[in-house]
Amino acid sequence: MFEVHPNPQPRSEAERAAILANPGFGQHFSDNMALATWTAEQDWHDREVSAYRPFQLDPASAVLHYAQEIFEGLKAYRHANDSIWLFRPEKNAERFAKSATRLALPVLPAEDFLSSIETLVTTDQAWVPGGGESNLYIRPFMFANEVFLGVRPAKTVTYCCIAGPAAAYFPNGVQPVNIWLSTRYVRAAGPGGMGAAKTGGNYAASLVAQQEAYENGCEQVLFTDGAERKWVEELGGMNVYLITADGKLITPALEGTILEGVTRDSVLTLGTERGLQIEERKIAVEEVLQGIDSGLITEIFACGTAAVINPVGSIKTEQKSYVVNNGQSGPHTDGLRRTLLDIQYGRAEDTHGWMHKV
Ligand code: PMP
Repeated sequence: MFEVHPNPQPRSEAERAAILANPGFGQHFSDNMALATWTAEQDWHDREVSAYRPFQLDPASAVLHYAQEIFEGLKAYRHANDSIWLFRPEKNAERFAKSATRLALPVLPAEDFLSSIETLVTTDQAWVPGGGESNLYIRPFMFANEVFLGVRPAKTVTYCCIAGPAAAYFPNGVQPVNIWLSTRYVRAAGPGGMGAAKTGGNYAASLVAQQEAYENGCEQVLFTDGAERKWVEELGGMNVYLITADGKLITPALEGTILEGVTRDSVLTLGTERGLQIEERKIAVEEVLQGIDSGLITEIFACGTAAVINPVGSIKTEQKSYVVNNGQSGPHTDGLRRTLLDIQYGRAEDTHGWMHKV
């Protein structure tokens, strides 16, 4: 149970309305946040939802030195009848627990994870945008908050969940992304590394490759495996799928080096329902580049909570730009995207039991 001590000074209705009219992404946050503390002696305690405010961190807090931290990302959607829903939040709870285990952080029980989100979203329900495809982006996270410079798992840990309104990712319609094939940098070491965990270090590792992508006129990076640079893994913040002319939907298998995306998992189900033949397996970079050139690969898309399903217009290497489907989205990419959004925004029946009412 998260005890609610609502922010005594929430922003005025006018201030909130101004933010909701133009929320952007990741810049504005609701009036409250959820908090819980873990100590080696006391386990999880002090669960509360209270005013959004800065942390006071000691300069010797372990997280600032050794990056023992994890996070999650999911959204709350307002349906036409004003009810508010989460999409498969139990999958995020599961992944948060796996990330915690990998980072030697304590596991927050799934019921606490879900309850923190439900209590925060209920308290700040006025911050859930309505209309169009805007939503409330929810960011649960946990970090080593012990004042100690020794390298060992912290004995004091803070869990927090914040949330903020997010505009439709593509207000002017979906834009295919151009992706840079990174061969100089990798995001995950390989099996046994942290690639499957949602931890800040993986994103820190991706930033220099992202810079390289921008310098080469691309918006996102496609990472390969850490050992051979031969196998396709994922983008900096999205999983990747290929569609072939003979009706296959192919994505890299989960081998401990990529994030197990909730969207990725949902696409496996929706793809099967569209009659596509699913293949989860190793995909060689060469297979992708040749497949684009030969026309066997007809569509490529990236998927994740933020952009949902995002067509890939081209893959660029040091040598050449490989343009997919003339740089346009394709029918399966569009269809899968529409189906998923219709479920999330309550415009289609939730036949899979994915939606979770707040
Ligand atoms: N891969 C990475 C590295 C990510 O950061 C994300 C976003 N969480 C994803 C894939 C997609 O995961 P999901 O569909 O759960 O958002």
